[in-house]
Amino acid sequence: MPRRRLPALLSLALFIGAIALAAHGIGSLAGAPASTIAPQAATGEQPWYLVLVNSTHPLPDDFSIQTAKMPGGETVDARIADPLAQMLDACTAAGYHPFVRSGYRTRETQQAILDNRIKDYEAEGLSPERARDAVLDWVALPGTSEHELGLAVDINDENGDAGMYDWLAEHAHEYGFIQRYPPEKSSITGISHEPWHYRYVGEEAATAIYEEGITLEEYPA
Ligand SMILES: [Zn+2]
Repeated sequence: MPRRRLPALLSLALFIGAIALAAHGIGSLAGAPASTIAPQAATGEQPWYLVLVNSTHPLPDDFSIQTAKMPGGETVDARIADPLAQMLDACTAAGYHPFVRSGYRTRETQQAILDNRIKDYEAEGLSPERARDAVLDWVALPGTSEHELGLAVDINDENGDAGMYDWLAEHAHEYGFIQRYPPEKSSITGISHEPWHYRYVGEEAATAIYEEGITLEEYPA
């Protein structure tokens, strides 16, 4: 049975909240640290950048990565630091003020985020069951979040400029990133539309996914 959708007002509040949380700047993106770490072995038969993580494809328990710090302090898988910095630089050059609000998360961090969001909804009057259902439309269970993979980032604009999301939607594939949870695809991804969440899949897959209007779950088409 599908989870109940988040009430529209609550969704709007959450969306605005995510933008409003753009509380700190990132300084110069040009100074992003270069990745000097050798590529890791591919997981299974797929290259590392195509690993699917969702509610039915959890991370292995022994999963670990080498991280690199982005301007602003968030970390990501070191192998995507360069394309991410290039994308953010291009977005900045287009007149926006992007920063990585959330990058790599440990399983413990993911659990804490889930617990805190559920508490927030309970404080707004939702029952524990409804609060959990509502949060799970947006926040993955620990072990099933792409943020734990280190290949996903939540990008916000320092000025709350929603036009930045349009820019990312049109250009991210040029840098190997996809909008991972597009509108109208939540029945496939299991996650509601998140215009701020981008996932690295490499340029070839990103371009195909962008041009065909599909999700990572549907790739290769
Ligand atoms: Zn995210």
